[in-house]
Amino acid sequence: MDQDSNNNSLDKVRSHLQRECFNKLFIGGKFVEPIEREKLPTYYPATGELLHEFPRGKANDIYAAISAAERAWAEGTWAAMSAANRAEIVAKMAQGIEDNKEMLAEIEAADVGKPFRQAAMTLGGAANEGKYWCSLGKALDKEQDLPVNSGGGKGGLPPAEWNVVYRRDPIGVVGLISAWNYPLNVAFRKVCPALIAGNCAILKPSEIAGLSCMFIGKLAQDAGIPPGVFNIVTGDRDAGVALTMSPSVSMISFTGSSITGSKVMEACAPKLSQVALELGGKSALVVFDDTDLDKAVETTMKGFLTNGGQICTAHTRLIVQDNFKQPLLNRLKEELEKLPFCANPITEKNRGDRAWEDGKTDVVQPVVCDSQHKKILGFLDDAKAAGVEILTGGGVPDEKVVGHSGGYFIQPTVLVNVGQETDVWQKEVFGPVLSVRSFSSEDEAVLEANSTKFGLASTVMSSDPAKAMRVANRIRAGAVYATSTGEGILAEHPAVSRGGFGCSGVGRELGIGGLHEYTELKSVNYTGFSLADAKIESVG
Ligand code: NAD
Repeated sequence: MDQDSNNNSLDKVRSHLQRECFNKLFIGGKFVEPIEREKLPTYYPATGELLHEFPRGKANDIYAAISAAERAWAEGTWAAMSAANRAEIVAKMAQGIEDNKEMLAEIEAADVGKPFRQAAMTLGGAANEGKYWCSLGKALDKEQDLPVNSGGGKGGLPPAEWNVVYRRDPIGVVGLISAWNYPLNVAFRKVCPALIAGNCAILKPSEIAGLSCMFIGKLAQDAGIPPGVFNIVTGDRDAGVALTMSPSVSMISFTGSSITGSKVMEACAPKLSQVALELGGKSALVVFDDTDLDKAVETTMKGFLTNGGQICTAHTRLIVQDNFKQPLLNRLKEELEKLPFCANPITEKNRGDRAWEDGKTDVVQPVVCDSQHKKILGFLDDAKAAGVEILTGGGVPDEKVVGHSGGYFIQPTVLVNVGQETDVWQKEVFGPVLSVRSFSSEDEAVLEANSTKFGLASTVMSSDPAKAMRVANRIRAGAVYATSTGEGILAEHPAVSRGGFGCSGVGRELGIGGLHEYTELKSVNYTGFSLADAKIESVG
């Protein structure tokens, strides 16, 4: 890579980051300095250079944000509005993402190390998803005071003299803790439903790469969200812990690793507050021998290399039918060894994962930071020590191949004949590493797919629809793709609820069910007068 082009593009991102919203916390509707005035650094993954220093909010800043949210909650204006009216305001925030997509994509490219092209695509997705959430505002309003009119079974209806209805109330002050791999998408997926449901929220983005999330504060201010209804405190684990432990916070919506998810649940247990946990995965790609070879290779690559393997649904376990294994692995090795590295993600406008959908080349991005880089290499060292065979990759690419030094690059790696008990089969590596096993029967394929404690997503590939359906129905995962082409793998639609089985999560996000996660269901039983009379009185 040309060093000047690298410097110029980084300087451009640094100039975006001069804006107030990227340098302060957002509390009570204002941008404020953290109480202890400390900062945290973030580095450009492609070169390891310092990108930016952002505020390190600590427990006292979290408490200030919680107080602001409590005041807004006690005042009650936001919760008293209709969900449709709240959604109209949130829709301005979604539009703000679309309007600032280019700047935000440059920031995410520099912060996460993902190709600009991919960042711009996913940020467009966040804006669209925001619009979808806003469309649910009216749906939520329609659910208020709906009569309980079906129960099923004998005696399924309440007594005729009851006028019993359901309502969906907001929960109160909620904490939103997010991960770094798709920073703004993950955060906005929490902010939209939390606010539309009528809660007051505090967002704590990831300290590893969360700069784009800070812009949500500016969007909230511009959209006219009342002070205290939405707050952002950047910081590390300590800020997250303070948020989860606070007795004033009635729900934590968390996206991150399963290990941290269990700590969040533990912190919420004494106060019995609600939790929604979107956690890690170790997704399986099951390939039968009647699959088209080209499609199988393409799907395998997409499955484990999207976002550099740093996606919760990454298909990092390939389970291939015995007689199809060698042809698939031969082609996979050939294709992977041709892939170029992404020397400067900020300027990578044409290549990037899913680029093949437009007939363009894929490219291997760096992993997000030094500690992740070391962690992934540690997994590979342990695998080598355990005698696992490396088909391709297995370490750090030569600087000459990348084009410069200092970045957190890892070769796309395929491990074969992996033992079921090894860490590379059982644990989430969160990098460009694929582990391969094979099967001889349908039953064995299912056993292999279900052989970890995770259950986030999985795919079955076959040209036989009945077989694909039988296997899909037996796989234990929150989202299963059954496909002859690989089309749609990893795809999400905001109307389709998703979440994890087992150690991959608690609760579901997206869809109307995802909005309900941020509400409490309440029944109100009117007797002695009609509901219609009550409505007239309360309006009067
Ligand atoms: P992480 O668990 O290390 O951190 C997530 C967030 O939790 C960060 O904001 C962090 O500061 C905070 N945190 C850390 N310790 C805490 C504690 N004890 N109490 C409260 N907060 C704490 O995860 P990560 O490395 O940021 O993200 C990667 C993980 O996220 C992967 O496991 C990935 O699979 C998962 N993920 C899941 C989904 C999903 O939808 N299921 C989506 C994206 C990422």
